[in-house]
Amino acid sequence: MMKFYKQYFNKYRFLFIVAISCVFFEAICDLLQPTIMARIIDEGVKSGQVATVIKLGLLMLVITAVGACFAATRNILSSKVSQNFGADLRYDVFTKIIGFSEISADKIESGSLITRMTNDTSQVIQFVNSMMRIFFKAPITCLGSMILAFILSPQLSIILFLVVAIVAAFIVISMKMSYIRFSRVQYAIDKVNTVVQEYLMGIRLVKAFGRYEDEKGKFDGANTDLANKSVSSQLVIAYFSPLMSLTVSLGIALILYIGSILFGRGDIEVGKIAAFINYMAQILASLIMITNVFNTFVRTKASTERLNEVLNSEADFKGSGQTVKYDHGELAFDDVTFAYPNGSGIATLKNLTFQVTRGETLAVIGPTGSGKSTLAWLCLRFYDVEKGTISLNGTNVKTLDCNTLRDNISLAPQKSMLFTGTVFENIAWGNPHVSKEEIIAAAQAAQADEFIQTIPDQYESIIGQSGVNLSGGQKQRVSIARALVKQAPILILDDCTSALDAVTEAKVRHSLKTVSARKTIIMITQRIGTAMFADKILVLDNGVSVGFGNHQELLHACKTYREMFDSQIGDDLNRGNRYV
Ligand code: ADP
Repeated sequence: MMKFYKQYFNKYRFLFIVAISCVFFEAICDLLQPTIMARIIDEGVKSGQVATVIKLGLLMLVITAVGACFAATRNILSSKVSQNFGADLRYDVFTKIIGFSEISADKIESGSLITRMTNDTSQVIQFVNSMMRIFFKAPITCLGSMILAFILSPQLSIILFLVVAIVAAFIVISMKMSYIRFSRVQYAIDKVNTVVQEYLMGIRLVKAFGRYEDEKGKFDGANTDLANKSVSSQLVIAYFSPLMSLTVSLGIALILYIGSILFGRGDIEVGKIAAFINYMAQILASLIMITNVFNTFVRTKASTERLNEVLNSEADFKGSGQTVKYDHGELAFDDVTFAYPNGSGIATLKNLTFQVTRGETLAVIGPTGSGKSTLAWLCLRFYDVEKGTISLNGTNVKTLDCNTLRDNISLAPQKSMLFTGTVFENIAWGNPHVSKEEIIAAAQAAQADEFIQTIPDQYESIIGQSGVNLSGGQKQRVSIARALVKQAPILILDDCTSALDAVTEAKVRHSLKTVSARKTIIMITQRIGTAMFADKILVLDNGVSVGFGNHQELLHACKTYREMFDSQIGDDLNRGNRYV
């Protein structure tokens, strides 16, 4: 669990050691003061020796000044180390998230990842900072005060040890009680983030359905829960802090009482009693410090576990970095069965076998949830199949270098994802080495050029976050252009012409044929009108292949295909259009 702490501490070991040394000397300076004060009272004030008072007073001043210098140095160093520590941690967490396997990405919600990157890392920074500033000082002060107090008066020290034992017991109990409460707080923060994030993503849907009140209710629930859990975690501190102060105050009262008896008997001097009380106050201060550090530690333990969950999560399949680009692509599924690792356990694809050879267009058709997108993810090896093999140009994708596999497949996903930047940048994202002419050619093939020419700055127009200023169909066309410039031998279009009208879609299909004559195209769709022109059509129903062949063959041999055809195109046919 402490792995990353060790790793970063090793990096900043020198600064850490210097800071701890400063803390040590600062504590010594603090410890010396009550003893000097006792001497000022007992040797100077009592016998009226002004010179001794001045001499010891000056010594006390010098020690305070030296202590302050050490304190300032350790403060600077602890800020430097803890902030760098935090920056390293954030970087490593982010790098890990970028390299997440799909399984890891499915497991942790994005709202929670943001909390981990920000809130949990801040918690760790605070812990490292307070640890360097006070964690090492408090035990030194506490132990030193106990030893020096014992030297001053062994009898009075019995009370002191008793007080320390009771307070230590309080610390242990409060830590046990607060740990579970603090981890609940972190999860409640996750929930608030997720609700806000979901709202922001579906803002238009919320407006269209007028579900403001429900969203407000959802947020209110998460927000109140966070407040309640935070209060519950603070309550532990609220109860135990005064209890500890009370114990120490009772101890001081008892010391004054017994001290006065001892003084009456001439067994102790006034200065020593004053110094004893002073040490007692130092012990109280350090015990409160220790409690605070433990509280931070408890919160940090929950945060550390959450960060470790990210840092130890499964990484994506790695490639060597050196890739081979093929001039053609043949994909084959051989008896493939796959179930999502975090799913219901029921296979999403079952015993799927088909092949698509170079230059061919394969349409994959089927109702929603039949496993079409899953088929695309498996081609890119976002997940590994359980049974059967998927091969690219005869090589099992599991044995193929992952970068090589993904370099040879270009994807236009179902949900067009665009980034803030120009149209040009968004298309070039598919291949940074491509020329401007090639970008325009790709945009023309994707039927995007005609609308790009009509917007004010054409290819230099800025696309807002996630493409907010483009229509669904425009986004899809930019997304297809981006997939085309990648110039991979296999092109997968995952239902990404769904927002285009039939005429534009037909144009895209035709230009794809010309631009990518040698490409293997997999076209995922729900529309018969799109699928029917493909060389081969795979009909999926509930993860099972129920038909494979061309349009004509399937019309006669596949009942599901025929039914889809009748329901989608039958009316057209009745109106006299010929498809068969
Ligand atoms: P289609 O593209 O045909 O609409 P999908 O391939 O998207 O279908 O989904 C097929 C099935 O797999 C659905 O039942 C869906 O709930 C499930 N599924 C999709 N993605 C995941 C995932 N990341 N984790 C678990 N189940 C998933």
